[in-house]
Amino acid sequence: MSLVSAANLGLVGIGGPAPADPARRDPEELRALAETAGRELEGAPALEIARWAAETFGDRFCVTSSMADGVLAHLVSRVAPGVDVVFLDTGLHFPETLRVRDEVARRLPVNVRSIRPRMTVGQQDGQYGPRLFNRSPDDCCQLRKVEPLERALTGYDAWAAGLRRDESPTRATTPVVTFDARRGKVKVNPIATWTQRDVDAYISRYDIPVNELFSRGYGSIGCWPCTRRTKAGEDPRAGRWAMFEKTECGLHV
Ligand code: SF4
Repeated sequence: MSLVSAANLGLVGIGGPAPADPARRDPEELRALAETAGRELEGAPALEIARWAAETFGDRFCVTSSMADGVLAHLVSRVAPGVDVVFLDTGLHFPETLRVRDEVARRLPVNVRSIRPRMTVGQQDGQYGPRLFNRSPDDCCQLRKVEPLERALTGYDAWAAGLRRDESPTRATTPVVTFDARRGKVKVNPIATWTQRDVDAYISRYDIPVNELFSRGYGSIGCWPCTRRTKAGEDPRAGRWAMFEKTECGLHV
């Protein structure tokens, strides 16, 4: 196993259920919590980071997942069984991605919430013209990902994402806990320090659902119009929005 020990991978230790829903906190309190936790939890095992979030925020904490795999959902479910897992169903996902979502919902002790954009793809085509993703991917992501996420996060004080520092240069300094000032919430990245080998080890150890597109040359998986296979030597996210100067969808600003 590489940089992360078995303990850091969350391969040991099982937590109890999340506590009852704590009182809602104001953004300044959340900011202070995030700043302290970001310092204190840097270098902590992923399971401990998830446990801190589950115990601190209770039902006001959720997981987000692109359904590349079920690793983060599984990890958090070990300390917060029944946790909400938010999936942004853009209407433009590969069928393989939807299969992972369905498998996660069926096999893991989590509550998958599929959140749809306000407009169907057809309605968006009617209002903005067809294939907005080819002309203005930022606008398409705003309509189909960013706004739905902000709507989905209403009612939570903290959310977890599966960002990793080794995914691309733009993610190299990802903190394990930070304050998401745009949304006024705490953002938790429990597996920020994991490598791809760590993820693979966790998948193998726990038989986690994983998107079969990885075995067909994709290094990172998003909506089908904006995702291509990666070539040898490219970073895993090089196949995302490859025709544009765009590296992120806007969820993780
Ligand atoms: Fe649209 Fe592409 Fe963004 Fe998906 S990834 S919402 S298709 S621009």
